[in-house]
Amino acid sequence: MKVLFLAHTEADGSLGKAAAEALGAAKGLGGELVVGLFGAEVQKAADCVAGCGAAKFYGVAGAEFATARYGSDAAAAEAIAKAAGAEVIVAPSTSRMSRVAAGVAQRLGAKVDTRLTGLEAADGKIIATRWFYRQRMLGKIERDARPWLVTVDSGCFAPCEAAGSATVEMLAVAPATRSQVVEIIAPAADAQTIRPDAKLLVVAGAGWGKSQADGQKHVDEAARLILGLLSATQASLGSSKSLVDQSGEGAALPFLTHMHQVGQTGSTPRHPKGLATCCHGEEPHVVGWRFIGERRAINLDANCGWAQGKADVLYVADAFAVVSKLVDLLK
Ligand SMILES: Cc1cc2nc3c(=O)[nH]c(=O)nc-3n(C[C@H](O)[C@H](O)[C@H](O)COP(=O)(O)OP(=O)(O)OC[C@H]3O[C@@H](n4cnc5c(N)ncnc54)[C@H](O)[C@@H]3O)c2cc1C
Repeated sequence: MKVLFLAHTEADGSLGKAAAEALGAAKGLGGELVVGLFGAEVQKAADCVAGCGAAKFYGVAGAEFATARYGSDAAAAEAIAKAAGAEVIVAPSTSRMSRVAAGVAQRLGAKVDTRLTGLEAADGKIIATRWFYRQRMLGKIERDARPWLVTVDSGCFAPCEAAGSATVEMLAVAPATRSQVVEIIAPAADAQTIRPDAKLLVVAGAGWGKSQADGQKHVDEAARLILGLLSATQASLGSSKSLVDQSGEGAALPFLTHMHQVGQTGSTPRHPKGLATCCHGEEPHVVGWRFIGERRAINLDANCGWAQGKADVLYVADAFAVVSKLVDLLK
């Protein structure tokens, strides 16, 4: 069995963490490994994994492959996959790769499965694992069809790091693109509050927008404290549904969107630790914490949901006071 690891390189020419993990997943299948990389340049990334045991390295490089664009990325991935002629193609579930995965599979006449959390070979079969229906059901997939293109989620496989010096066979690809990447407009790195790689998740709940002991709401102070805590810890921000719904109406914290919502109808982030603040810890919210390793919560109510076996530690306290003190100490 020939297995192609397919990935784009990063802006600095290196191989990203998600890609190194996808290579780990591809290597874990056994078989003959081939590496295919595309981007502005690929040699640096190939050297990062030169010792991974790949029989061959293919590359597509050039200025037109520097940024994510469907036409150029799909053409590069297709050329590499055709040159490699692999039965199984393993790529990372980055947004750039996810955008082209289905289209590349179509061009190759391949089947495609995305966002796998497990991939193993046993008795001549490959068994892929992924979650369905917002992480409620875990499914195992086998396919006879080849080629089979899969993307694998970050945080599920050990990264492959094997630096050395790789010999890359460069493929000439002239993509027929109709669009030009003129400029990328993105929020400043510290304005982005969803950080999947952060060690800590801080969840803000509706309590931040409620009347406090003095009978008044302190939403501006809440915003300042939460942003201060994020800045001091570089934690990722999550929220309860109640708070994001209020924010959507312009009534609460301006930096919250539905993307922050954790829970049954929100996201299921993966962080080693989580701290819930002013959040009641109801089941539809806490179900989104299933992959959070260590859970703590701050709530005025000693009887809140977190106290019902859902948190490792519950601080029965005023989150305004605790977070203010915490930010002072961290400074
Ligand atoms: C089908 C369905 C799907 C749902 N999906 C989701 C989902 O995906 N995610 C989600 O979050 N919810 C979801 N919900 C809603 C969920 O049931 C709760 O209504 C919601 O999580 C409550 O949000 P909250 O805890 O922030 O607010 P509240 O229940 O209002 O709790 C606020 C908490 O703040 C505390 N508090 C107030 N002031 C302070 C202070 N100064 N210091 C410390 N604590 C303080 C209070 O004691 C209280 O416990 C869903 C509900 C349904 C029916």
